[in-house]
Amino acid sequence: MNQIAQTQSPHTLIETGLSQADVTKRQAAEGQNVLQEQRPPSLWQKIGRQLTEVTTIILLIAVALSTYMAIVLDGGWTKPIVIGAIVLLNVVIGLYQERSAERALAALKQMSVPTARVRRDGREQEIPASEIVVGDIVLLKAGDQVPADGILESVTALAVDEAILTGESEAVEKSVTGNGADVQSVGDQINRVFSGTSVTRGSGIMLVTAIGMRTQLGEIADLLNATKPHETLLQKRLSKLALILTGVAVAGGALIFGLSMVQNLGSTADNLMMGISLAVAAVPETLPVIVTISLAVGVQKMAKKNAIIRQLNAVETIGSVDVIASDKTGTLTQNKMTITRLWVPGQTPEMVTDQPLSESGLALIKYFGLSTNATIDQTDAGEQTSGDATELAIVRLLAQQELTRRQLEATRPRVAERPFSSDIKSMATLHQDEDGHYLLIVKGALDRLPVTLSTSQRDQLDQIHQAFAKDALRVLAVGYRQFDQDPGDDLAALETDLTFGGLIGLIDPPRPEAAPAVKKARAAGIKPVMITGDHPETAQAIAQQIGLYQPGDLTVTGAQMAKWSDDKLQEKVDQVSVFARVSPEDKIRIVNAWQIQGKVVAMTGDGVNDAPALKAADVGIAMGITGTEVAKGAADMILTDDNFATIIDAVASGRTIYQNILKAVEFLVGVNFAQIFLMLGSVLFGWGAPLIAEQLLLINVLADGIPGFYLAREPGEASAMQAPPIPNDQSIFANGLGKRMAWRAGIYTGLTLGIYALGRFVLSDNQAIVGSTMLFIVLAIGSMIDIYPIKRREPLTWAAIKSNRSLNIALAVAALLILAVAILPMLQQMFALTSLTAGQWLISLVALLIPTFLLEALKRWRQIGKQTIR
Ligand code: ATP
Repeated sequence: MNQIAQTQSPHTLIETGLSQADVTKRQAAEGQNVLQEQRPPSLWQKIGRQLTEVTTIILLIAVALSTYMAIVLDGGWTKPIVIGAIVLLNVVIGLYQERSAERALAALKQMSVPTARVRRDGREQEIPASEIVVGDIVLLKAGDQVPADGILESVTALAVDEAILTGESEAVEKSVTGNGADVQSVGDQINRVFSGTSVTRGSGIMLVTAIGMRTQLGEIADLLNATKPHETLLQKRLSKLALILTGVAVAGGALIFGLSMVQNLGSTADNLMMGISLAVAAVPETLPVIVTISLAVGVQKMAKKNAIIRQLNAVETIGSVDVIASDKTGTLTQNKMTITRLWVPGQTPEMVTDQPLSESGLALIKYFGLSTNATIDQTDAGEQTSGDATELAIVRLLAQQELTRRQLEATRPRVAERPFSSDIKSMATLHQDEDGHYLLIVKGALDRLPVTLSTSQRDQLDQIHQAFAKDALRVLAVGYRQFDQDPGDDLAALETDLTFGGLIGLIDPPRPEAAPAVKKARAAGIKPVMITGDHPETAQAIAQQIGLYQPGDLTVTGAQMAKWSDDKLQEKVDQVSVFARVSPEDKIRIVNAWQIQGKVVAMTGDGVNDAPALKAADVGIAMGITGTEVAKGAADMILTDDNFATIIDAVASGRTIYQNILKAVEFLVGVNFAQIFLMLGSVLFGWGAPLIAEQLLLINVLADGIPGFYLAREPGEASAMQAPPIPNDQSIFANGLGKRMAWRAGIYTGLTLGIYALGRFVLSDNQAIVGSTMLFIVLAIGSMIDIYPIKRREPLTWAAIKSNRSLNIALAVAALLILAVAILPMLQQMFALTSLTAGQWLISLVALLIPTFLLEALKRWRQIGKQTIR
């Protein structure tokens, strides 16, 4: 990088930045500012991977075996051709599924692209960080992720966390005069900043010297690439389940082979084929891919509802959260602040209307205005604002009184500033008067303002503050101090003994969606909690308005919490619904207290200091609008609308995805067992093998592979949000899933053995082929359509049946294929089936509906049972 920095000599004017024409040229020459990812595997590599899967290998052995039989034993070419075609179909379906999963995941990456503020054509603008070129002027502020490598052109108390490159967690103070490029180590280059590091404090302007793979981060990108995405908890559990089932399937196959040999049922090769096919049919090979697809589809759906998932694991975890700890401002409230009241000592509190303020009120607002950074500009494109909502409210009130910050600063220019920090909860500015005196103004939370007051003044002040806060107003106080001479610019040292100026009260109405969302959370067994930097009274009043605070709950401040030991905090944490005046460090303690109790915690955050708490939470949620890039980088999920209700929607989606995966397990696994029992039972009864390899394999590919895949798109059920969270460590088979699977396996074993016996011994003259054909139709189509009772835990309705169009189409196609095989003479011959009589057809068609009806009846019966118990 150093070399590049030296050879590049971009002629960029700091004030104007590059021109658009220049940018376009450079982008064409240099490419995008992105880290190259590992190349995706080629089609051939993917095919190779599919062919080396256990089931495919077993199938290929079957092809080889049947080919051997065709050549050496003259067994005919149908078998190798049919099984070969099934292998091909399996690979094609596998590739299609894999591609769907990949696409969805790629779309996921596109969703959370970082942005950067640059100066181009003399204008500041927000652009995707990927579009930055060498020579760009980038404006950095606390909370930003540095988007490229560069040299600092100006800094204001800039400190950067370079841990990603140096491992050093202490932030590095930056300056413009530094030891530059000739110093090798990143940590020593104090006049440079590097891609991927984060600004923890202050602001700065950088000139970009390297982008993309040519940055310091680019040099270690290969290392980052090498870390494989890890499986989610559910994926791990299901992989384990799939492994066990594969074992069972292989054992079943071996048993059938052994029994057939003992009973002298066919040739060794035929029996071996039988065993192999049964093993293949019983392995739920589609399970892992269904999980990936379900997660990916869910992520896309959530993105449409304003929740962007950055970590796939979060989809699962969010469904099982027990506690949602949410910020107040902007998440539960609208973040639209208006000053409605003010108070100046010695006066009565004043309501703010659209009328001119009293003289003392106006003087108070001027203090606030001077120590404010927000701006509102009227442009052709409408109102352009910058700054936080609290400060914008001040600027708006100034405008209403026909004043601007510029006017105020004309007579009292600002000479120094201590920016607002949510730790200190105040900010300070120093101004030079026209007469050469200096004025220090500190505005912020009253309890953090070092003002000097008599006891009676303090009492009166507290009373008024309380009255404001009880009405859910955010209260801001101002204090000032005059100096005859320049006191220096270390403002923090000057902030003592202030004269109290007055209070303003700002209203920030709750979001209309907040109260219903809180109710929904409660119904879903989730505890919603407010964690705010605001005053306890204000916070509690708002929490009460939205139903988050209920009588008997506790409101605790950071200061009170500091006095509690960790044990006490753990003991009390359940009763607290409002944490006020907390610092980002307190947030970590709160998360830990819950986690020790085994609770799954979601926590929101926006500031750079929130990053550790977001990482500590099970689901870290960053604000998309007001959040810093650092908070977004640390989060598992980003809310593009900063809205609490979106979190609840995301929980609902998370639960739906989890349920859909379990439904897929239920659908895929139950019948596989029935197939093993059917074959074993039939052989034990001395009936021989009722299904041949080709039939088993076709049922497996069509009935298992296709419909199950579309379960991922199944919409959620209302009941998902009416039950408590599913514990993270809960077995897959809990909540009756194991029982339902056993029922289904039992129903199918009985039904298939019964229909085979009926076809062979009752409806025909011991013609095994009639029994097999009827069995084939019943098992194939029956085990497809019973996806309907499975896809709904609630009793089926017509709307529920229609709700998943792709599933319905896939089922129709698969069922038609099965019917074609059973009806068309050529296919009949290939699959060793025969034409049925009308009576046999009728019986088969009725029989194939039995499992669906029985499962649905069972569901309704259970529900009635449950209701009577309640
Ligand atoms: P949250 O978003 O977590 O609910 P918050 O936005 O209410 O919290 P902070 O922004 O940390 O919390 O504000 C905490 C306190 O700091 C406020 O109650 C207010 O008194 C003070 N404060 C907020 N903004 C400013 C500002 N721009 N200048 C000075 N003081 C401020």
